[in-house]
Amino acid sequence: MSAGGATLAASLNAARRARELAITAERGRADLLVVGGGVTGAGVALDAAARGLSVVLAERGDLASGTSRWSSKLVHGGLRYLARGEVGIAYESAAERGLIMERIAPHLTRPLPMIYPWLPGTSLGSKALTRVGLAAADQLRRAARTSRQTLPGPRHLTRAEALTMVPCLRRDLTGGMVTWDGQLTDDARLVVAIARTAAAHGAVILTRCEASGLAGDGAVLTDTLTGNSFRLRAGAVVNAAGVWAGQLTGGVPLRPSRGSHLVLADAAFGGLRAGVLAPVPGERARFVFALPVPGEPRVYAGLTDEPADGPLPDVPEPTPGEVAFLLDSVSGMLDVPLSRSDVLGAFAGLRPLLAGPAAGHRAGPAGDEAGPAGGGATADLSRKHAVLTSPDGVITVVGGKLTTYRRMAQDAVDAALAGRPARPCATRGLPLVGAADRRALARVRAPARLVAKYGTEAPAVLALTGGGPRLAEPVACGTPVTGAELAFAVRHEGALDASDLLDRRTRIGLVQADRQDALAAAERAIAQG
Ligand SMILES: Cc1cc2nc3c(=O)[nH]c(=O)nc-3n(C[C@H](O)[C@H](O)[C@H](O)COP(=O)(O)OP(=O)(O)OC[C@H]3O[C@@H](n4cnc5c(N)ncnc54)[C@H](O)[C@@H]3O)c2cc1C
Repeated sequence: MSAGGATLAASLNAARRARELAITAERGRADLLVVGGGVTGAGVALDAAARGLSVVLAERGDLASGTSRWSSKLVHGGLRYLARGEVGIAYESAAERGLIMERIAPHLTRPLPMIYPWLPGTSLGSKALTRVGLAAADQLRRAARTSRQTLPGPRHLTRAEALTMVPCLRRDLTGGMVTWDGQLTDDARLVVAIARTAAAHGAVILTRCEASGLAGDGAVLTDTLTGNSFRLRAGAVVNAAGVWAGQLTGGVPLRPSRGSHLVLADAAFGGLRAGVLAPVPGERARFVFALPVPGEPRVYAGLTDEPADGPLPDVPEPTPGEVAFLLDSVSGMLDVPLSRSDVLGAFAGLRPLLAGPAAGHRAGPAGDEAGPAGGGATADLSRKHAVLTSPDGVITVVGGKLTTYRRMAQDAVDAALAGRPARPCATRGLPLVGAADRRALARVRAPARLVAKYGTEAPAVLALTGGGPRLAEPVACGTPVTGAELAFAVRHEGALDASDLLDRRTRIGLVQADRQDALAAAERAIAQG
């Protein structure tokens, strides 16, 4: 069934939410309750629904309102884990990256060349380490059976080649290396696509629905728009609340770490077409980078890794010190250093890192290799995920990263089903809504920018531009996003208010001036439905 090319079964909107919320409250039970609508929770909902379970996902805010929208937007092969000797987690990353890029979401990903310039002062040892690391990462790509067409192998660059690929680099560089990794069109859009695909498999996706009083057999759900509550009984409860997971059940040993990015004008880089990375002086396997933003005249520069102990803010913010560190470090790679006026915006997210062994919990399939406990640098904590079962039976899935969401979901649902007859995990070969292979995507009759956001649904978005001049035009001067994209988000992608539109379905909100410009269009799109 389709509405002008959009898959109706996968359409989330206010009417569907109201209908399904009422039915869920009346029935009062489901096979599985998933708490949290970030990439992990959406992945769990999809995994379980694809196995034929009845699933309710409760998200207190919007899809991707937590950490999942603040990432570097890479599906990466885990080079950094390799450098730390964590071969298992690096292989898992490489394998999941291949699945996402080749089968699950080719439309939302692209191969991105990543340049490691040899800047003055790069030691012979550091060059050798980079060469060996990139070669080993390429071996993992091969082991994961990701084709060279998807991700070409690493190679040496002469000075001239490096400067041709990234003309804004320092003139005194002596050469470099190029390798390829996966880049998402956008992280929040990946979450929405997973949740919509779960909905197409029968999952009930309830945003603005807060879970409390979690136990192994259910929880209280509160519609935050009306304040109405009801108890949902469930065969199993999966807590996928990210850094907030420890607030919902006891004994989840989290040590959040803040990672910050800058949003810069692409013009400051003279048009960046590849990612560029440079090591952070004095630190092992840590880099600062600048990444071109697909389809937008922007560059993201990252990344910091700071312990974020204490109260958890809903929207974390970079400190002035982090902004200065990123500006200085990225400037160090460039011919013309950046200035404060090049900074259009900045954002930060909290990594849900595991701090140590899970006291009082039974560790699931991936729970046996948590990182060191206690204080110290969060950069040293493992990025491995864990599935933990608390004494009251709540299953928590936490840690990990965006790239490995599918595997985390599989492990969590396996734990939820332990001992019960059920279909095996089916998500390895399950494409998300809008997905097709790259050759088919190249034939979609719509502008490349729309195909990279909507895949095979791009013509449905394009068709909406015929609804009037306002729908065909960009909604703010700093962005190519049109009114039609906002209308599509309201009708099919579950956007309930202007913030959903500006801060998650699109990322206009990353630049305050653009957000202000586009606010009226977003409010109009919500009012028109
Ligand atoms: C700066 C940074 C850069 C990163 N870059 C990358 C990268 O490039 N590639 C990569 O693979 N990974 C990356 N990661 C890691 C990745 O982003 C996270 O591991 C992942 O997004 C965590 O997703 P999650 O679903 O577990 O948590 P979240 O996205 O935080 O989702 C948890 C959700 O639970 C909801 N919730 C909380 N309490 C309740 C409740 N009581 N009821 C209902 N809902 C509730 C929250 O609103 C939230 O939406 C990065 C992380 C950071 C911080």
